[in-house]
This record gives sequence, C-alpha cells and structure tokens, in this order.
Amino acid sequence: MLADNIFLKIIDKTIPAKIAYEDDQCLAFHDVRPQAPTHVLVIPKKVIRTLDDITDADEALLGHLMLVAVKLAKELGLAKGYRLVVNCNEHGGQTVPHLHVHLIGGRDMAWPPG
Ligand code: 5GP
Repeated sequence: MLADNIFLKIIDKTIPAKIAYEDDQCLAFHDVRPQAPTHVLVIPKKVIRTLDDITDADEALLGHLMLVAVKLAKELGLAKGYRLVVNCNEHGGQTVPHLHVHLIGGRDMAWPPG
C-alpha cells in the first residue's frame, strides 16, 4: 500500500471513490463533499504534499493535471464555465496533504473566494 493519506488510499484502491479519469500519471475522482453540482479532484499519483513541494521536474506533470481537468470539464458538460482551484497549506484551506486540483462547476461562482 502506498500509505499515509486518504488520497493515496484512493490511488491504490484501498478505499473507494467515484473515478472520472485515470492514467499512469494521475487520477480524477468526484469529491465526497461536493461544493457545486460538479466537483472533481485531479491528483498526481506521485507523492507531492503541497504546491510548495513542487520542483522544476514536475513542470510537465502539473501541465498534465491541468489538461486533464480541462478535458474533464468538457466531458462533464461545463460549457458555461468552471473553476480550477489548488489550496495550499493552512491559509489556503488545504485539508488533505496530497496535491490536488479542484474542478468545480455547474453553478455561478462568487469572487473573491471566501
Ligand atoms: P482541500 O481542502 O485539501 O483543498 O480539499 C480536499 C477535498 O477532498 C475536500 O473537498 C474533501 O471533501 C475531499 N475529500 C476528503 N476526503 C475524501 C474522500 O475520502 N473521498 C473523496 N472523494 N473526497 C474526499
């Protein structure tokens, strides 16, 4: 088992999730507590705890996560728009210590975010 956070358990399928997309680099699954009609998390399979932990070596992987999120937005019918969010650490509101891109859509979004 890959081990110590809930998203690693979703990657290695020891806990279930509603998977929207998977390839060798990433996994996308529906958030268990959706904040909008569509709320999907796109995560790298590589262990990266936060945005603060990324390096130059992750440049292509990070681009891949964004491309996957945008493809999913189209597949999931978010033609009117959507939001991609990456929370980082305490002030950013990050609760799970494994990098993830939130794809949120299906309703109007407020700005500034809370
Ligand atoms: P963060 O607050 O770290 O930016 O986002 C973590 C997200 O993971 C939250 O939206 C939360 O609802 C979601 N989440 C936490 N645990 C689980 C889980 O076990 N399964 C799924 N599908 N989502 C989870």
